[in-house]
Amino acid sequence: MYLIIFYQPIVLVSQLSEYTQRAIASASPIVEVLNTHPDVQDPPSGRDPGRLRGEVRFENVDFEYVEDVPMLRDISFTVEPGKTLALVGPTGAGKSTIASLVPRFYDPEGGSVLLDGSDVRNMKLSAVRRNVSMVLQDTFLFNGTVLENLRFGNEEASEKEIAASAEAAGAHGFIRALPQGYETQVGERGLKLSGGQKQRLSIARAVLKDAPILILDEATSSVDAETEAEIQNALGRLMAGRTSIVIAHRLSTVKKAHKILVLDEGRILEAGRHEDLVRRGGLYHKLYKYQFGGAVM
Ligand code: ADP
Repeated sequence: MYLIIFYQPIVLVSQLSEYTQRAIASASPIVEVLNTHPDVQDPPSGRDPGRLRGEVRFENVDFEYVEDVPMLRDISFTVEPGKTLALVGPTGAGKSTIASLVPRFYDPEGGSVLLDGSDVRNMKLSAVRRNVSMVLQDTFLFNGTVLENLRFGNEEASEKEIAASAEAAGAHGFIRALPQGYETQVGERGLKLSGGQKQRLSIARAVLKDAPILILDEATSSVDAETEAEIQNALGRLMAGRTSIVIAHRLSTVKKAHKILVLDEGRILEAGRHEDLVRRGGLYHKLYKYQFGGAVM
């Protein structure tokens, strides 16, 4: 009996060492992630300009994802506050890359990205991000209620403000019809929403955030005509008075845009308004015929 009592703690000690080894092995990838330094650094003495007017300017921007493989080359353009810029071009031309440089997800290798005339690298990262809203094709919903997912746009928003933004986004109706309305659980472990519904939640988030600059990736997935019209109206309301950079897939968008950049392989091939570009008979003219389904002029 004494022997058994004597051995038990010894067995425990040997197990302890095994557990420790396992814990160390599991900890190393976690430490690796924690030690990762983001490429984009928040400048210690960065400015916070408050709410921007919304001018977006690219000056000779060069960018590469992979070292020595240039992606964007010498991109320059200006979007005046409140105006709309449409980015068009074949897949892989660099449209999303341009859009992701505005909220400073990456830094360019050469040239600068300026908001209201200030280089984004000299501004506080939180100030840059506060001034830019994004409505993307693939809307991310967290596990939580509809209300919590909308509040992500503005954490201080009251329930009344949230409902108003859902109304402006054409989402109030379908949210009210969900089993528990605004308290319905959505996301991976909750109710699955349709593409059109998720998109409207994303628009509602942007309405709630009320940033002066809007990045919009128009959806290519099809929704029924009624939903499509609702989404278009909601986007129209959202874009009014904001600087919008739209990755355009719709003819109606490019026709309305104040300026269109036609991109191919990371370069600007053509720039101008719809009518001028169609008349020029270049790449835009081709895209107009085949991608946007426009009639030949
Ligand atoms: P578009 O939006 O016009 O379809 P993108 O800007 O998404 O084009 O992509 C431009 C090019 O950059 C593509 O060749 C794409 O494969 C590449 N690319 C996009 N994102 C990354 C990334 N995170 N890492 C490496 N290459 C990327």
